[in-house]
This record gives sequence, C-alpha cells and structure tokens, in this order.
Amino acid sequence: MAEGGRQMAEGEKKRSSNGPPSHPSSLRIGHGFDLHRLAVSPEGRRLVIAGLTIDHDRGCVAHSDGDVVYHALTDALLGALALGDIGELFPDTDPKWKDTDSAIFIREAMRRVHDAGYTVVNADVTVILQRPKLRPHVLAMRENIAQQLDVSIDRINLKGKTHEHVDSLGHNEAIACHCVVLLQANPE
Ligand code: MG
Repeated sequence: MAEGGRQMAEGEKKRSSNGPPSHPSSLRIGHGFDLHRLAVSPEGRRLVIAGLTIDHDRGCVAHSDGDVVYHALTDALLGALALGDIGELFPDTDPKWKDTDSAIFIREAMRRVHDAGYTVVNADVTVILQRPKLRPHVLAMRENIAQQLDVSIDRINLKGKTHEHVDSLGHNEAIACHCVVLLQANPE
C-alpha cells in the first residue's frame, strides 16, 4: 500500500512525524537492511564498509559513499524508535548528500536516540559480499561501529558472509548488510 494510504499504528498517532515515541518502553529493537551495486571504474567508487575503505577492484554505486553497514545501522536505530528510515531523513535526490561520509547519517540517528532518552545495548551486523574476505578488517570495523554507537567494542558483532556465488551478491555485483540493534531507556 502506498505510504500515504497505510493505516497509522497506534504509536504513530501519538507522536509527531519527527518526534520520539511518546510512551517509551525500557527496551526497543531495530532492524536494518541495505544493498548497493558494485561496479568497476568509472561507474564504481571506492568500497567503504563500516567506515573503513577496503582495497577492492570495484566500489559501490551510491549517492553517498555507499557504506551499507552505516546505512543499515542508521535504519535500525531509527526503526527501533519508530522514527522512519534513512531515506526520509537524507533523500538521495538531495545533492547535499552526494558523496557524503555516511558517518553523518549514523550520527544524526544517534542524536535522535540520545534525545529520546535511550542508549545502545548491542548490535549484530552481517555483511554479505563474495569478495574480498572481511576477516582481516572485522576488528577495525567493530571499532568504528562501537565509536559511532557510543558503546564498548564487546557490544558489537560483525560477520562477513559470502553468497555462495549465487545471484548478484555472489557474482561480486552487489554488497548487502543486515543488522539488529537493541536500545535501552536511560534510568529516570
Ligand atoms: Mg544505502
């Protein structure tokens, strides 16, 4: 159903379009997903994953820097608070976000998390790409994410998975990320 025609959930009626939930519970969970095409130059760009630039023969095709991890985490944070999604906050039609560092998106989502009175408990992130192997970069990626989410690194997990040579992900034509984030309300 089109966005304008969908039924409003009870929680949505109680908040303004850009405000935090009116009746926070102590725990809230959010899920994020993102996918970008990979391409060789000149269409391709550098490959940025969780704030880290990876050496690869192709890069993301995206309006911003194409960081699927930061995009998915931004959606998960906003989703946990029922605050919409990254596309509402940062439309890819806006030239302001062209080639931008995706840390800007996740910082804005975190600002809203703090404004709503929550902190991150933990995050679990799965990155899907056929190559290169992520294992040598996992620690640096977890450090970047922990810094962005304002938690210690033991609260952050990141897994790299191949797509078993199946479909666009398995043919090194795309990269995807799934993640879940748990938030906890700050003590009164
Ligand atoms: Mg994206």
